[in-house]
Amino acid sequence: MHDAIHATPGELSKQAMLIDGQWVSSLEDEWIAVENPATRQAFALVPRARSADVDRAVKAAGTAFSRWKMTSAAERGRLLYRIADAMEAAKEDLAKMISRENGNALRTQSRGEAALAAEVFRYVAGLARELKGHSMYLQPETLDYTRREPYGVVGAIIPWNAPLVLAALKVAPALMTGNTMVLKASEEAPLAVLAMSKICADHLPAGVLNTITGYGAECGAAIAEHPMIPKISFTGSTAVGRSILAAASQRVAAVTLELGGKSAQIVFPDVDCDFVTEGVITAMRFSRQGQSCTAGSRLFVHESIADRLIDRLSSRLSAMRVGDPLDESSDAGSLVNEKQFRRVCGFVQEAIERKPEALLLGGMPPVQGPLSKGYFFEPTLFFDLPEDVRMTREEVFGPVLSIATWKHEDEVIERANASHYGLAAFVWSRAGAPALRVAHALDVGWVLINQGGGQSIGHSYGGMKQSGAGREFSLEGMLASFTDLKQVSVSLGDQGFEKL
Ligand code: NAD
Repeated sequence: MHDAIHATPGELSKQAMLIDGQWVSSLEDEWIAVENPATRQAFALVPRARSADVDRAVKAAGTAFSRWKMTSAAERGRLLYRIADAMEAAKEDLAKMISRENGNALRTQSRGEAALAAEVFRYVAGLARELKGHSMYLQPETLDYTRREPYGVVGAIIPWNAPLVLAALKVAPALMTGNTMVLKASEEAPLAVLAMSKICADHLPAGVLNTITGYGAECGAAIAEHPMIPKISFTGSTAVGRSILAAASQRVAAVTLELGGKSAQIVFPDVDCDFVTEGVITAMRFSRQGQSCTAGSRLFVHESIADRLIDRLSSRLSAMRVGDPLDESSDAGSLVNEKQFRRVCGFVQEAIERKPEALLLGGMPPVQGPLSKGYFFEPTLFFDLPEDVRMTREEVFGPVLSIATWKHEDEVIERANASHYGLAAFVWSRAGAPALRVAHALDVGWVLINQGGGQSIGHSYGGMKQSGAGREFSLEGMLASFTDLKQVSVSLGDQGFEKL
């Protein structure tokens, strides 16, 4: 791999970033340390790109665009297939890289993520012949049709929680539709994304994909504000999403936002408790330490089965193995960094202080033993917290589930909808009609009924309310998010000349 710019013994290896087909450091030659959250030790450095670096990446992408957009869609698809195959071949290395930089467990998370990222390229490659517009019959002597055209340079900004798959979900559709890209990896998890970019660069013309690393306030903001970027695709927190939207509004750039969530799980009384226990644990993303935008972190259980379900949840979660992300026996790894660790501690501390008896399992993290060496946090359950305790409303992004009971369907729908977020929701019920009734009444972008898993490729996934705007995972999402629509209206009349 491209890897180190230089690394003498005892130094952290320096990983370069990709601009115009070259592996480069930042213009100021400044670096950001990448920490292994399971050990709290830095193990690599990546460039600290600032606005001047963003500018050279955008210029490279702008230059590459004029040729890339003229490449046939079929050819772009062929290149993406090659990238998919190379990603597939490298997936174990990529998975280990993810686990090392963001703390996700290799067996339960990172392997699946690396495999899925390869599949994203393969799926999108197969859409090459779907870049279609429409033609309209308006009058006999006119031809009216639409064209799906690329925007130009797409600016993409991603978080750390599923870095590889989120990068793939932006790179593949943006490039497939003829755009070029400046991608900013998260400063917390840039290494697997740089490795993926190396694979892409092996198959793409220089400048088509430029991957840079840097802090949000200086590198991400420079992308959001750049006058030569007509389209921003952002995945991250709602707070930063708002600032992206504000920056883009100055030049009326197009924006797609995939933001935070506080998703509800609603359990009806007719369910099989063992089945739903497993489902609730999956939906809460406990094996990702709850660090998922779609985590079902508000559990509403019908009062008639609450005791039974809580018992099963507690005993199942107590048996969950939290430990070294690279250890095959670990079900869950560590939180991503100290900031996130302190944040989760803050939520839990507040809840314990407000109502100590609400804590059913877990609680503050261990201060002794092997888990205290990293940012580990064990599965934590709270029951019946007052609704003004922050964790019942705000996104914790940790393995913390707050449980409440409900009695009437209308009441639980109202409580589930009482959130400024609207990303996902989970409904557990054997009866079809109530489940569908609730699904239709929830103000969220994605409802899962009797399943707790993650998004599938091809889903039209995205958020309502402050959880986002736009969709990206599907064919429709690709066309809507990465192409602009042009109407062409042609007169077929004789234009004053006699017909031959
Ligand atoms: P974040 O918003 O702090 O950072 C996301 C990215 O934005 C990073 O690359 C960061 O460097 C950059 N950034 C930060 N400040 C910026 C600024 N002022 N201008 C431009 N860019 C800036 O989020 P995070 O902590 O990395 O990720 C967790 C969040 O992401 C959670 O809220 C989670 O729900 C959300 N998320 C959403 C989805 C989704 O599909 N809806 C998927 C994954 C994560």
